[in-house]
Amino acid sequence: AKRGGERRYAAFEPHMAQRSLAVLTMENDLRVAVARNEFELHLQPKVDAATQAVVGAEALIRWQHPQLGLVSPMQFIPLAEESGLIMPMGRWILREACRLMVQWRAQGIAPASISVNVSPRQFGDQGLLATVAQTLEETGLPPQCLDLEITETVMSGDVERVVATLEAIKAMGVSVSVDDFGTGYSSLNYLKTFPIDTLKIDQTFVRDLLASSGKDAAICSTIITLARNLGFSTVAEGVETAEHAAALRAMGCDMLQGYWISRPVPAEAFERFLRERAAP
Ligand code: C2E
Ligand code: CA
Ligand code: CA
Ligand code: CA
Repeated sequence: AKRGGERRYAAFEPHMAQRSLAVLTMENDLRVAVARNEFELHLQPKVDAATQAVVGAEALIRWQHPQLGLVSPMQFIPLAEESGLIMPMGRWILREACRLMVQWRAQGIAPASISVNVSPRQFGDQGLLATVAQTLEETGLPPQCLDLEITETVMSGDVERVVATLEAIKAMGVSVSVDDFGTGYSSLNYLKTFPIDTLKIDQTFVRDLLASSGKDAAICSTIITLARNLGFSTVAEGVETAEHAAALRAMGCDMLQGYWISRPVPAEAFERFLRERAAP
């Protein structure tokens, strides 16, 4: 039995070593990338479900790694969270998003707001409020034009602290969306406790919206009704087809986001998209 255990261990270890080495290397590269500013924001529109007018944009970070090419944020955001690099990275994301929004406003093509993802560690940081206030002031963006997307994980922290932070954000005039709604440890209780503006229906529910079981349709429809009764607006993410869009619209969903409208694209492409949409 011992020998078998050793063999298993021997077969397991090199793989583990490689993995941790890869993670370590990426963490180092990430450090360098933060210092050198190797990131770019891509933008994805949110449209009014009824009129298809562009009402918002979500900023999504992209990393062009010198050797690996484009690295998915699903890979490096968790690393950035663990290492604390999310802090300088998050400040850059916020500033860049506000700066882009100010540019679009100057050109008269801006949607109503830009949404920035805020990770749990950023949200838990004492400096978040000051960073947001300072960024708005320095870029000159009106607070009403900024939306922060937080996940349910963020809200599972110390309730009083979370409420105080959210209230301070709202007092500034900045809005708050709950990202990936329905996938975390959501409790109906927090919907009445936390001052939020929008629920984003997670794309896993949207993906199987038209499945024959009807379960995901029931979930989407219930979230939309719940949100409306509580005074929140709704965004469906991961809308990939006209059929999804039609079904969600029929359910009363306010806004749609997904490949059916546009993939996340670089700023120049997004500006072209805004101009085309604005054209009569
Ligand atoms: P998320 O915030 O839930 O973002 C939505 C993800 O779904 C994005 O992946 C987007 O490209 C993708 N998506 C949009 N429409 C569709 C669609 O119709 N179909 C499908 N299959 N996917 C769609 P992305 O950009 O790879 O980002 C993945 C995650 O990484 C984000 O999930 C978010 O949690 C995190 N992330 C991305 N950018 C940032 C950022 O700037 N800051 C932080 N803290 N996290 C970020
Ligand atoms: Ca998001
Ligand atoms: Ca999401
Ligand atoms: Ca997600």
